[in-house]
Amino acid sequence: MRWLGRANGLANKQLPELWLKAAPRDHKAEVGKHINAVKAHCEAMFEQERLPIARLETAVRSKLIEPLERVDITLPGVRRAIGAEHPVMKTWREIVSVFQKLGYSVAEGPVVETDYYNFEALNFPPNHPARDTQDTLFIAGQQSKPQRERLLLRTHTSPVQIRTMEKMRPPIRIVIPGTVHRNDPPDASHSPMFHQIEGLAVDTNITFGDLKGTLDHAMKALFGSSVKTHFRPSFFPFTEPSAELYVTCFICGGSGKRGSDPCRPCKQTGWIEVLGCGMVDPNVFEFVKDNGYDPKKVSGFAFGMGVDRLALLKYGVDDIQLFFQGDVRFLQQFG
Ligand SMILES: [Zn+2]
Repeated sequence: MRWLGRANGLANKQLPELWLKAAPRDHKAEVGKHINAVKAHCEAMFEQERLPIARLETAVRSKLIEPLERVDITLPGVRRAIGAEHPVMKTWREIVSVFQKLGYSVAEGPVVETDYYNFEALNFPPNHPARDTQDTLFIAGQQSKPQRERLLLRTHTSPVQIRTMEKMRPPIRIVIPGTVHRNDPPDASHSPMFHQIEGLAVDTNITFGDLKGTLDHAMKALFGSSVKTHFRPSFFPFTEPSAELYVTCFICGGSGKRGSDPCRPCKQTGWIEVLGCGMVDPNVFEFVKDNGYDPKKVSGFAFGMGVDRLALLKYGVDDIQLFFQGDVRFLQQFG
């Protein structure tokens, strides 16, 4: 039992735990081989009848310990690199910290969401054409449930806006970082999984001026004090009015040229679109009205940006897939 016990026997449990786990990777196969030999030996002995412990120990010494003593344990061990922050996570943290300094707190929510939080409560009614633009990945086998309860992989971090407003009364200022999924085939600028950071501010008397001032400050904090911002009208179901925010290209400085070559990231326009934003649609507040969000009394703004896209621009990377392939030769460059 001392040798072959399943729970704590030397050959069955302790040798594999103590020796095999601790062995350097290059020697694991060899150590494993010896441990198996010891085990086989013990089993054979056990079959034959009890054997004096002293003889078993001699057998273990010759089969396991002596071969290993040939390994020079005075050699230096295997060095493990300390590692570095992934460029996407670095960008994520930079963006979050800009808003934390403005007094925003961080909110998070589930990646598997219900139709209600991902769409309905954000003013995407069932069958609304705007749902089609989101290329949603649905969880299988949900057809028997009412539509609002069906599960999906969230297509944006916006459901956390509703979840937070259900829990906290106004005023609120939150940033919501997280992973989102869409049914986009992977290519240089698309990935079925990517990262978003969303923001929401709700209070009495919040105006579009507050939105512009906040985002102008954030862009200068992220890309340098010389960038200019520019808002163009857009459409999102959950904001009204909605806008896209452009900043002067931080690669060419807004000239559209790099030396005599055209600047590719801004397509020679000198402007780069960085996020979508707008004033929270009163229809969204209707869903959380009972928690103090009467659209006649409160107003707010929201914005959302793709972290991976900003990381691509910031580091001049031309293929989003590089961020997710885990190739150390690529990631080392950011260490
Ligand atoms: Zn440019």
